[in-house]
Parts: sequence; C-alpha cells; structure tokens
Amino acid sequence: MLKVENITFGYSKSPVLKNITFNVDAGENLAIIGESGSGKSTLLKLIYGEYDLIGGHIFWKDTEILGPKFNLVVGYDFMKQVTQEFDLMPVTTVAENIGKFLSRFYLDKRQERIEELIAVVELEAYSKTKVKYLSGGQKQRVALARALAKEPEILLLDEPFSHIDNFKKHSLRRKVFNYLKKKNISCLVATHDKDDVLGFADQILVLHDKRIIEHGSPKELYDNPKIPLVASFFEEFSDIDNRLYYAHQIQIVKNSNYMARVKQSYFKGRSWLIEAEYKEQTIYIAHHENIAPSTKIFFETIK
Ligand code: ADP
Ligand code: MG
Repeated sequence: MLKVENITFGYSKSPVLKNITFNVDAGENLAIIGESGSGKSTLLKLIYGEYDLIGGHIFWKDTEILGPKFNLVVGYDFMKQVTQEFDLMPVTTVAENIGKFLSRFYLDKRQERIEELIAVVELEAYSKTKVKYLSGGQKQRVALARALAKEPEILLLDEPFSHIDNFKKHSLRRKVFNYLKKKNISCLVATHDKDDVLGFADQILVLHDKRIIEHGSPKELYDNPKIPLVASFFEEFSDIDNRLYYAHQIQIVKNSNYMARVKQSYFKGRSWLIEAEYKEQTIYIAHHENIAPSTKIFFETIK
C-alpha cells in the first residue's frame, strides 16, 4: 500500500537519509526507531509530502506523494499526521477541536463520533474544557483524536506518547493502536520508546547513519540484535565474547569460568539489575535479590 522506493533527501547538500526502501500494508503498524537526529521525523515529513525528494519515489496505492515543487497544497485526504508540535485551537473546547475535523459524512452521527474519539484518548472528563487549560500530555491526546477524526487510511505519528505520563501511557497506547487495527488504518510511528513498539509494531525500521541498518519484526530484532545499538533500544545488555546478552540471559551461579565483581545493584520491580565488572568491562545481570558492592560472583550465559 505505502511504497517507499529508494528515497534520498537532505535539507542542504549533505543527505540526511539515503536509499530508504520499505513497504507498509493496509492496517500495518511500522515503527521507525533510531537515535535523536537519525532522521525519523524527516522520514515522516517526506512521506507526508512536506519536502521534495532528491531521489526515489513514494506511493500510497496508485498516488505518488509529491513535494511542494509539484503539489501546491501539502497533504492528502487519505493521510494524517501528528507532529511533535501539535497545533490546536487554544480557546475552543476539546470536543470542538475534534468536531471541527470530522468528515461531513458524520454530520448526523456527529456527537456520537466525537464521544467515541474522546474515549479512545481517554479525555471524557475534559470534553468541555478549553484546550489552553490542558497539560502537554492532554493536548497531545487531543491532537491524536483529531488526526483520527477524518478516518485516514494512513496515519503518521511522531513520538505520539512522549508528553503523556506513565499512569496513562500504557492504557492509551493499547486503545489507540487497537483502534487503528480495528479500522485497518496503516500507521507509522517514530519513537525512541520501546514500549511504543513491543506488542504493537508489525515491523521495525532502524535508522542509523542515514540508512536503514535493520528491518524486521520486533521479535526478530529483539532475539537477534545484530549491533549493540539495536539491543540498547530494548534493554540493558552485555557484550560477552562478542555476543550480546540481555540481563535476563545471564545467570549468577555458585561456580563457573566467568568471574565478575559487583559494582552496584538497582531495584527494577520484578528483579534487581546487578551492574558488575567483568574483564574490565561493565556487564548487567538480572537477579532476584540485591548484592553488596565488591562481592565476587560467578555467572553463566543462557541463550
Ligand atoms: P529525529 O527525528 O530522528 O531526531 P530529524 O529528522 O529531526 O531526526 O533530524 C535529522 C537531521 O536533520 C538532524 O541532523 C537535524 O539536525 C536535521 N534537520 C531536521 N530538520 C531540519 C530542518 N528543517 N532544516 C535543516 N536541518 C534539519
Ligand atoms: Mg524527531
């Protein structure tokens, strides 16, 4: 459905993205991850048609997405985006902000539809509140609901839950992503938060040094991170004899050939994260209790 074919782009002469190719099907959720400055937002803006490509093509079904040089009005009816700067109408209420973006089609069912969208982003208690009185996270939720109001075929989300507190984040993510699946809306999510990805994304793209350095399902990338950058996105990891291990893949035992010295223990809820020194490098081990600094430990890897 969305076809990104070998695109290259730069704001100046030096490219920010080079030879990017991928496809997204109807209803699919694609996560774009990478360090800050790796080009995640730029990629979403290119797909929205905000800039002219240096090379390559972007298609949604049979429509080629063209930049401002070839398309005076930026944006297409089938596509909506929620950028990092959500610009809302401050002196109107939450319900009015969303209502203004409803398709004509909904004229008769308008109120019902506004309520449905407000429920997806869990703002029932604020529907009559003016947007200027909302917190950053609440505004972000209004921006999400507004993007959904037009029932786009494809939605571009740039760090969509970044302003939302942890109390709300988990349930909100489930609601929004389940809603998109139910409506068969394709979705591209730029994020540096693994919780936006695991359990929701069908595919992950990793951007690094202008290119896609990994592309696969969350399980493929989690189980076999080819480079430390990808492992570090998911969890604390250790490099032992040139293999990467997550903390739960290293186990403390009575005796083994691997000896390390504890530096510090961190309470993580389900377990403790033990930071230890092994052959002059730092490793991380998940353990059921804390261990005093300087304690000598033995460990094994499990994989
Ligand atoms: P990310 O979203 O992954 O943090 P961005 O896409 O925002 O990365 O930025 C990628 C690169 O492009 C960065 O080096 C950034 O400084 C540069 N950049 C982003 N927006 C602009 C712009 N409007 N003009 C010039 N350079 C930009
Ligand atoms: Mg960004």
